[in-house]
Amino acid sequence: MSTDSLLARVLDQVEAYRAGLAERPVGARATTEALRTALGGPLPREGTSAADVLDRLAAGADGGLVATDGPRYFGFVIGGSTDAALGADLLATGWDQNAFNPVTSPASAVVEEVAAGWLKELLGLPAHASVGFVPGGQGANTAALTVARNAVLAGCGHDVNRLGLRGAPPVRVLAGEERHTTIDRAVRLVGLGTDAIEAVAAGPNGVIDVDDLARRVATNGDGATIVCLQAGNVNTGGIDDLASACAAVRAATRPERTWIHVDGAFGLWAAASPRHRHLVAGAAEADSWTVDGHKWLNVPQDCGYVICARPPDHAAALSFTAAYLQGQGTTDVANPADFTMESSRRSRGFATWAAIAELGAGGIADLVDRCCRAASRFAAGLGALAGAEVVNDVMLNQVLVRVGDPAFTDALVAELQREGTCWMGATTWRGERLLRVSVSNWTTTDDDVDRSVAAVARCIDAVGRPGS
Ligand SMILES: *Cc1c(COP(=O)(O)O)cnc(C)c1O
Repeated sequence: MSTDSLLARVLDQVEAYRAGLAERPVGARATTEALRTALGGPLPREGTSAADVLDRLAAGADGGLVATDGPRYFGFVIGGSTDAALGADLLATGWDQNAFNPVTSPASAVVEEVAAGWLKELLGLPAHASVGFVPGGQGANTAALTVARNAVLAGCGHDVNRLGLRGAPPVRVLAGEERHTTIDRAVRLVGLGTDAIEAVAAGPNGVIDVDDLARRVATNGDGATIVCLQAGNVNTGGIDDLASACAAVRAATRPERTWIHVDGAFGLWAAASPRHRHLVAGAAEADSWTVDGHKWLNVPQDCGYVICARPPDHAAALSFTAAYLQGQGTTDVANPADFTMESSRRSRGFATWAAIAELGAGGIADLVDRCCRAASRFAAGLGALAGAEVVNDVMLNQVLVRVGDPAFTDALVAELQREGTCWMGATTWRGERLLRVSVSNWTTTDDDVDRSVAAVARCIDAVGRPGS
């Protein structure tokens, strides 16, 4: 079979999958055992034609796919892919460009430069900030905390690049008690250790108590401090009061020994909407930001951004310098490898560029607003079901619903996932087991919300209320 027709068949499969997304059961159908049977077996000793390999993969994997990119997937914060973003990602794979530096792919470097400029404007972040295209929010948090650690220790006269952490003064990490768990992992990975984290009190929506933060920074003396703020709590959507928090930190600390990071994996996208922008006012006062592309911007998986208001610090911590690369090819564009933790990598900037070009600033604002409206519609619909109660302040795209005791909640979620109209998960929020709804897909409509609320009502009846 010629390559042409082989790839055409793959594209047909992708198109058929996308065409069926809205109506296929959202959850996976196949058991792990069935998937192992279909896809496992001994190490192949002989080769097989590409066509047969791909047919087997497509047939074997289908039952284990979750329609996370469909309109009624409301688990975790996972967007879909816009048409242009998906197409651009397919091109990135087809071209197999290495976005490592401008020598390996001038097109990748320039597309990332352009997309970075668009991103900063959309998010209201400083135009001079540096941007690294990373695998996701975890990658961005890890990269940002690496930069932060080096910068605050440099402010104390300690050069981490040369000395590592040997002999370094302590670094405090102040982060809200409802921070994302990727912050803890980043703190572990950068060698500060989770004992360095001091949890700042958080209110009912998981938003930090700025007075508690101010009290803590006031005791800082001359010490090195990293403050991690959050825009968009994964459970509630709550956004820290970034303006007040940044002001409190700046007032009490030495600038060269202090770093403010904002984890805004999905929440910073509020800035792209005139209607929601006020929620992230003050974000630009921070030193670095984590933002995801593969959540609310609806580009395919494997795309986040680490953005830094102090490009020299960013490059000092992460830069890649190798003699064999210098003086070759394009040098009048920034080197992407100076702002990420990877060297060779895929050209993930193409999908971001394409999504922004396709939607435009107006389309992205509309995407954010539609998801927030859908979350409010969920809150109204689910909150009206007998025995259910919305427990968070729905300010963004997240809804938490108390439906019953933990056993009932888990049974309801299992039934919902089995029933297949939509996919919602359970979470434990402040000690309580709750139904969690997240709306981040560009194709979700009011009708999808209504069908999903009806499915929850049916599943509540199917599971049967305790005692009824
Ligand atoms: C999703 C999320 C992350 C992690 O992002 P990944 O892209 O899954 O690595 C970090 N912080 C927040 C607030 C998030 O919502």
